[in-house]
Amino acid sequence: MDYSLLPRVDRVAEEAGALLVRAGTPCPRQALVQAARTAVEQLRTAGIPAGADRADLLRRAAEDAAARCLVGARSGLRRVLNATGVVLHTNLGRAPLAPAALRAVGEAAGYCNLELDLEEGRRGGRHARLTALLQALTGAEAALVVNNNAAAVLLALDTLARGGEAVVSRGQLVEIGGGFRIPEVVARGGAVLREVGTTNKTRLADYRRAIRSKTACLLQVHPNNYRITGFTESVPTARLAGLAHDHGLPLICDLGSGCLRPPAVPGAEGEPRIAQVLREGADVLAFSGDKLLGGPQAGILVGKRRYLDRMGENPLFRALRVDKLTLAALEATLALYRDGRAEEIPALAMLNAPEEALRARAGALRDALSGCPARLSLTRRRAPAGGGALPEVFLPAWVVEIRPGDGDAAGLLRRLRTGDPAVLGYIRADRACFDVRTLTEAEAQEAARAIRAALA
Ligand SMILES: *Cc1c(COP(=O)(O)O)cnc(C)c1O
Repeated sequence: MDYSLLPRVDRVAEEAGALLVRAGTPCPRQALVQAARTAVEQLRTAGIPAGADRADLLRRAAEDAAARCLVGARSGLRRVLNATGVVLHTNLGRAPLAPAALRAVGEAAGYCNLELDLEEGRRGGRHARLTALLQALTGAEAALVVNNNAAAVLLALDTLARGGEAVVSRGQLVEIGGGFRIPEVVARGGAVLREVGTTNKTRLADYRRAIRSKTACLLQVHPNNYRITGFTESVPTARLAGLAHDHGLPLICDLGSGCLRPPAVPGAEGEPRIAQVLREGADVLAFSGDKLLGGPQAGILVGKRRYLDRMGENPLFRALRVDKLTLAALEATLALYRDGRAEEIPALAMLNAPEEALRARAGALRDALSGCPARLSLTRRRAPAGGGALPEVFLPAWVVEIRPGDGDAAGLLRRLRTGDPAVLGYIRADRACFDVRTLTEAEAQEAARAIRAALA
């Protein structure tokens, strides 16, 4: 092979730069050189095609380098139009923020009064505003926020159960997506897991028998992503709290999703409300900010002041605390609940969307695609809410199904995924499916334009 035919890296970078300028997407020199080096290396290892001349090879390498630059420039977090219908999609960042929360993030992004009391001109607590909101919304004595609910449960156990035993029902030793397993979190919190009952049945007497001098807490885990059905029995929070308090122990509840206001969908009525679980006597309650609450990723702890104060003094709390952007988004989201404006929270609005509106939006999406080289149909299905919340709730889904003219539904989805904005649908048999529950009207129109272009 005649390696002397290979183009020089700086020539390839120059040509690729010119291509990108012509395409209206200029790229910095350093990235061009890097991409050109990779492109030339690629030619060397792939071998020089027979009959190729110097000009061919330069053109090929330049095109390859330009493509690499474009991909590199788009490798940050990008906006995705979610046409999966899964409202709390963990891979897509779970709950989308409300406009008010977005504005709050923008305002806090510069300097802000994170730890400053503006009235007094003195240092203030970064949790004071949030505590006031959560007190008003849930009746809790105190509140803390950490990075996520996994961190919240870990902090609670590390503070209240380290060196002792945490009593948990065998029916609640769960794993929640992405490696959160109750037995392992209990161990990380420095506590010994004391399992009681059986997978399907645990009674108050089982807990009572397990309590001894080493017992540090009772831990109740809400089944958020599974249900045990059939011949089952578990102990209601109020009775568990009574037992814990008789022995001077705290009851910690991992609510997982937990909600301030259950979404108005059949099956969600039983979703525990935070205020109600507190009234039933739970001492410490942990839940996620980005599940049914509809806010940013965060782990929220509410409950008795004497326990939360201890958690706030734990060095682990400092390591798990959240930044000003999260606090801003969370405060603004909670303020919407307080002000009776929860419908402005996108996750709640999507879960509550009336079926007629979904049907109309799906119809409009299909109409916007008419004339495309594809077979289009409108289907009603059932879709999960997602995000490890509401495992038994299936929502009616209105879906536009597309069978592209070339029969390659996977190819269509791939082009949409890598486009700008990215559009995420799903495949079913030989059709690409787009569920409109998770698209606003404007987004559905944007998705239509992207799908038209991808089909063309
Ligand atoms: C989702 C969930 C968690 C983990 O919450 P993250 O905010 O994702 O860390 C823990 N426990 C339960 C019961 C959950 O449902």
